[in-house]
Parts: sequence; C-alpha cells; structure tokens
Amino acid sequence: MLSLIISCANKKNVDGIVTNAKVYTVNDTFNTIESFAFSDGKIVATGTSKEILDKFSSSEILNMKGKTVVPGLIDAHCHFYGLGLQQQRVDLTGTKSFDEVVQRVVAFQKENKLSFVTGRGWDQNDWEVKEFPTKKKLDVLFPSTPVIIRRIDGHALLANQAAIDLSGVTTTTPISGGEMLLKDGKLTGVFIDNPMELIEAIVPTPSKETKIKALKAAEKINFANGLTTIDDAGLSKETIELIDSLQQSGALKIRIYAMVSVSDENIDHFTKKGIIKTDRLNVRSFKIYADGALGSRGAALKKPYHDKHNHYGAMVTPINKLEEYAQKIAKSSYQMNSHAIGDSANYVMLKTYSDALKGKKNKRWRIEHAQVTDPSDFDYFKNILPSVQPTHATSDMYWAEDRLGEERVKNAYAYKELLKRYGKIALGTDYPIEQVNPMLTFYAAVARKDLNNFPKDGFQMENALSRVETLKGMTIWAAYANFEEEEKGSIEVGKLADFTILDTDIMQIDEAEIPKTKVLATYINGEKVY
Ligand SMILES: [Zn+2]
Repeated sequence: MLSLIISCANKKNVDGIVTNAKVYTVNDTFNTIESFAFSDGKIVATGTSKEILDKFSSSEILNMKGKTVVPGLIDAHCHFYGLGLQQQRVDLTGTKSFDEVVQRVVAFQKENKLSFVTGRGWDQNDWEVKEFPTKKKLDVLFPSTPVIIRRIDGHALLANQAAIDLSGVTTTTPISGGEMLLKDGKLTGVFIDNPMELIEAIVPTPSKETKIKALKAAEKINFANGLTTIDDAGLSKETIELIDSLQQSGALKIRIYAMVSVSDENIDHFTKKGIIKTDRLNVRSFKIYADGALGSRGAALKKPYHDKHNHYGAMVTPINKLEEYAQKIAKSSYQMNSHAIGDSANYVMLKTYSDALKGKKNKRWRIEHAQVTDPSDFDYFKNILPSVQPTHATSDMYWAEDRLGEERVKNAYAYKELLKRYGKIALGTDYPIEQVNPMLTFYAAVARKDLNNFPKDGFQMENALSRVETLKGMTIWAAYANFEEEEKGSIEVGKLADFTILDTDIMQIDEAEIPKTKVLATYINGEKVY
C-alpha cells in the first residue's frame, strides 16, 4: 500500500496523455509510437503506453484504442480569411428552383441576421422554369433589408427593391452596355453585365464584426478538418492586426502563417517592423502574383497556348517591379512567396529569386503553385521551395492537355520532380478554390485520381508522391516552409502539442478509402478544439 502511494506520488502530473494509439511521429526516422504525454501546450514525453503511464498521471487520459494520430495538419497555401468571408454570403449553388433560392436566403438570414444580404450561385438553367427570376418575393420577405444575389457566372444579379432604392437606380438611369430587365415598364431586379456595377457599388465593405465572424467561421471549418496551422496566401495589414488581436485575447486559436499582400507600402511597413512572431501568428513573408491561371488562359507561357492561336497568357506584375520587390525583400529577413502557374512565369520568378539571393544562404523563398515548369528550369528548384496543391492536378487534369498540348503537360503538376530537386515540398489546397479537406489533398497526391476513380491508373503517376512524402508535405515540410520546423510538424518532445486524431490509418488503408477518412478530434496547444 505504502509503495503504491509512493509510486503514485512519484508520477508527474501532466495536462494530457494519449495512449494505445498509432502515432505517426513524422520525426527524422518516421517511426510510430503508442503514447505521449503533453503539458503546458507541449509534448513532454513519448514512448509505449506502459512507459508513459508508469511515469505520468493525468485527469485527461485519451485511450485511442488503436486509432491513428498525426501531427496537427498544416495547409501551406490557402485563403483562410476568404473562406470565412464566403461563409458570410448565401451559397445558392445547386438550387433547383427560385423558391429554393428564396428559402436559402431566408434560412441564411435567420441564422446570420445581417443588415445587408449578399449571395451567389443561382442558375436559372437548372430550374424547371428557365426564366430569369424577379425580385417580387424578396421584396415581400425583405422590405427594408437590401438583398443582392449574383448568378453563378457573375454576369447577372438579382436585387430587391431595398437594394435598388439604396443605389438610386431607376428605369431612367442611363446605362452603357448590358441590360436592366423590365416587366410592365418596371425593374424586375435583374441586372446583366455593366449595370451590375451600379448596384454592387452599394455593397458595404465588411464591418469589423463581419470580419471577426468570418475568421471564426473559417477557424471552425479548419478545426473540423484537422488543421492546426494554415498559411493564408495574401492578407492586408489590417486583417493581420485583427487576427493578432483576436489570438491575443483567445478568441481565435488557430495558428496562422500570414503572407502579407505585397505593395511598396507593406514592404516598408513590415520590413521596418521585422518578423512578427507570437505563439499563434508568424508574419515574415510577402505574397506576390506573377501571372494568372491556366483555366482562363491567364497563366504566362513561354510558347503559345495549344488551344488558342498566338496567345501566351500574361504576367500580372511587370518584370521590373518583380525584380524591385525581390531586391527589397532580399535585404530583409522576410520571405518571398510568388504565385507562378505558367512556365514563363515560373522561369521569371526562379531567375528573379536566384539573382536577388545571389551569395546568400537558402532563404526558403517559395514558388506557390509551380504548375508548369520548362524541363530546363527544374534545377532552379534546388534552392527554391515548391509549394503546391495536389487537388489542382486532379481538378485541372480534364483540360490541362488542351491548354498545354501533349508535350508540355508532362511537366505540369510535376510534384515528384520538384521534390527531387529541393528535397522537400509544401502541400496545401488554395481553398476556397478547392475543398478544405486535407484528406482530399492526401488522396490527390498519392492516387492522382478524382473521387470517381478517374483516370483508372492515375494522372501522370510518375509525379505522384508516396504516402510518407505526402504526410511530410502536410506537416514537417510545411512547417519548414514557414520556418517553424523546430516547434511543430512532428510529434516529438519539446514540440507543440498540436495533433489530429483520424478514424483510419491513412498510411495503410486501401487507396480508395483515403478520401473517406474522418477527423475524430483536433488538438492545438494541448487543447481539444474539435
Ligand atoms: Zn492562392
């Protein structure tokens, strides 16, 4: 009896203990363990369940009964705030009738009680009555709250009378191009193309309250998906300051690697201030756009598009400006992260980085997307970090060859080639363009198929990643891309107690089962947040 009391008293009390788990530590040797203890937000011991339970006691013992635990997942490229803002608008995609549109607006407003309602996604071609709707029902339901809902393609909108009144538009307002639909000489509320601007001009910029709601809504979605750190690829100074204040007060718990939207003003402000690093926020990078996207033929290519004669796409920032940014950033401790899709944009950025970094040690400057690379340019990636989104490959695979032709497409979405050069690759989603779910990233990276098992043998499988590489890309390598590999990205003593519990073993299950994997719980700093 006495010895039992002594041994109990000798046990160190900790905040929590995970036992009987299959823990993928993602440490240097990628070994698995059964158990770990955490306290004060950090992992304090790892080992077998017996070893840990012999040494530690806790009121919070999480018996995993064989379930899988991975380090807290990181999305290395996403638009967290954008996702949150999207939650503040009514999603009308997939509606089967105008009545359903109205129902969704009503249900959304009941929940959100906004002073101004916006939404997007209706398409009258999906309805039984394939005619443009009118504002009549919205006028009855929302006599004093402005409602503006855009068509799925963004080329038409429906506004209620409260919104129209606010805009001052009447049937006699002159318009140049486009159309305001009339019925019996009165506005129906449908505005097509140019006159949409007159109505959209009154949409208020989000209030502080809306911004906070947006950030919290995004956080909730991310925690439910097992994400504990996200890299937001482009935030304003004001949004970063808001995030910081919410994190300081405990209102926002997710860890954020905030890329600052580039501008001369922002470079001056942030490089003068230096790196901003708290427990949950890391500001030390700028986001730059080199070119557009491949789908809309905006990506800058070295040779013309395969499906558009004499069309090369375009840079969205002039090359001399990109060089100026690079020279300025190279003088600071900040990192440069550039969106580059086409092989021309990739070449320009790789060359610009190499010139600016000459003589300096690897500063982990990143190319975001790195989608199409000229074979002769791959070697630049020996010193430049690729940050890619595997679901882009499986979203674009249906038409990428149309844009690029048979030869060039072979060097697109070339994740394995990129990994071979740098030795690491950071993985993300670019949500809300893609879904948030990191299991879809995992599946796209290893199987390179869509959710309908297409194509049967996978898309350009020579560029698939192994499961080990994929998990590293979502944890330790993503942490490295954020200069945070010493504090997170693996389950090791001294690191943050950020971890995700899964219902299946993603490293072992049938490939086809990967997308069905569910997150059972998410812990950040030792605290259960989902
Ligand atoms: Zn992006």
